[in-house]
Amino acid sequence: MRNDEDMARERQEMVAELELYGIRDARVLDAFRTVRRHLFVEEESRPLAYSDSAMPIGLGQTISQPYTVAYMTSLLVERRPSGKVLEIGTGSGYQAAILDALGYEVFTIERIAGLYEMAGRVLDALELPVQRRLGDGTLGWPEEAPFDGIIVTAAAPHAPRTLMSQLADGGVLVVPLGDLASQQMTVIRRRGEEFEREIFHSFAFVPLCGREGWENNNE
Ligand code: SAM
Repeated sequence: MRNDEDMARERQEMVAELELYGIRDARVLDAFRTVRRHLFVEEESRPLAYSDSAMPIGLGQTISQPYTVAYMTSLLVERRPSGKVLEIGTGSGYQAAILDALGYEVFTIERIAGLYEMAGRVLDALELPVQRRLGDGTLGWPEEAPFDGIIVTAAAPHAPRTLMSQLADGGVLVVPLGDLASQQMTVIRRRGEEFEREIFHSFAFVPLCGREGWENNNE
């Protein structure tokens, strides 16, 4: 049976692995040292909570691989290190907790009620001030816009226009864009009414459903 000390040691090893894979931002690495990933995975997955892998969290969804979370978070932090951030796809709540540890004001939307509730229980138990909503995240959170950053943690067929319109001037949208098999991590930065794009490595995410996501997954 692992105790807190074992988990802390495994967490340090995970961070060392992230550094080895090229995650350099000290703020991001510190957040990964702080947030206890084992609290965000299912009981039976806990022994592997600090391995660099995605894991099932129930209802057909996954908690992303730590490297992927660190990669997306670095793209955001390097361009917009503070302010309001909206996450689409709460899932386990882990990415939201990482954003909170970085000092962002965090908003997150999940479309599956069971996950929305599960993540809510963990975030509440940790007393993290993350604001949560159940619904279609492709429509954003208009009452709280504009956002300094928006992170989409599911695969999108194209950049959701509504999310782009909810960016602050200079704000960044980090979103994996592509087909259902593979997506390229994309950063879209707002400059007034113009949007600049940068394209990065390939990843494989579960689909972003909803009005501005994959049509065949609409509810
Ligand atoms: N960020 C999560 C974490 O830290 O555990 C992992 C996210 S998981 C890879 C993708 C999540 O996006 C799933 O929980 C899925 O239900 C959610 N999702 C897909 N389409 C969505 C939408 N339109 N609005 C909100 N959430 C959505």
